[in-house]
Amino acid sequence: MTAANSLKGKGTIVTGSTSGIGLGIARAFAAEGAHVMLNGFGDAGEIERLRQEIATRHNVQVAYSSADMSKPDQIERMVREAESAFGSVDAVVNNAGIQFVSPVESFPIEKWDAILAINLSSAFHVVRAALPGMRARKWGRIVNVASAHGLTASAFKSAYVAAKHGVVGFTRTIAMEGAPDGITCNAICPGYVLTPLVEKQIDDQAKAHKIPREQVIRDIMLKQHAIKEFVTVEDLAALAVFLCSNAARTITGTAIAMDGGWTQH
Ligand code: NAD
Repeated sequence: MTAANSLKGKGTIVTGSTSGIGLGIARAFAAEGAHVMLNGFGDAGEIERLRQEIATRHNVQVAYSSADMSKPDQIERMVREAESAFGSVDAVVNNAGIQFVSPVESFPIEKWDAILAINLSSAFHVVRAALPGMRARKWGRIVNVASAHGLTASAFKSAYVAAKHGVVGFTRTIAMEGAPDGITCNAICPGYVLTPLVEKQIDDQAKAHKIPREQVIRDIMLKQHAIKEFVTVEDLAALAVFLCSNAARTITGTAIAMDGGWTQH
């Protein structure tokens, strides 16, 4: 069995997949023959167009849940919907995430709570709901999209860094709990990827430091990357597909950096 066909016919959920990295992973899973539950916010018509396009292109089932990842009851419902649509949920990618940048003294309390809920607690709720089915079938793959900020810190990102470090700790724990039943759990730790989330940060940083966008990219974002390139959505998606393959069955509990060498300084 090749890495490429391990996802064929499997039921999968990718949270936060109406944009950016999650959408790239959802497309890559569908290309492997997986049925995919999309999730996230956005224009209803555009999401429906995406859903149909991915389903038709890859001849797989593609469903959509508008579940808010800060709401545990909606997360549970999303997992049940995916189980009934596909027959099983065999792989989940906990990817939904938001960012907010501020000195800690003025960090808005509601932003802290939202970042912890969406970037960290949602992974707990998804795994809690999906794990029993994976155990029953003795196979499961959990991929948590953490960040280089799950391994190192930057000033003004207290909530994000705390949540992403939490994701890495959660990943290691679920690896232990899933191991007896063929379930792996790994975290992916990207450096900077040019997605809408980062586009917004470039603008925010440009405003905060009163410097042009190009300077933010060169002097702030890619400063820490030894390889002076943004990570691409497609490369991250290929890593997620590999971690869900049978070839990766003994890789578990890891936090794999794809960050241009940032966290190796
Ligand atoms: P993005 O803003 O392009 O996409 C985020 C997705 O999450 C969207 O689909 C959005 O609708 C969804 N989302 C946001 N809040 C939600 C909620 N409450 N409920 C459900 N869905 C919600 O961002 P991205 O850059 O693709 O980021 C994806 C993940 O990758 C995040 O966890 C982020 O922290 C992580 N990450 C991104 C980078 C980067 O440089 N872009 C680097 C490291 C880690």
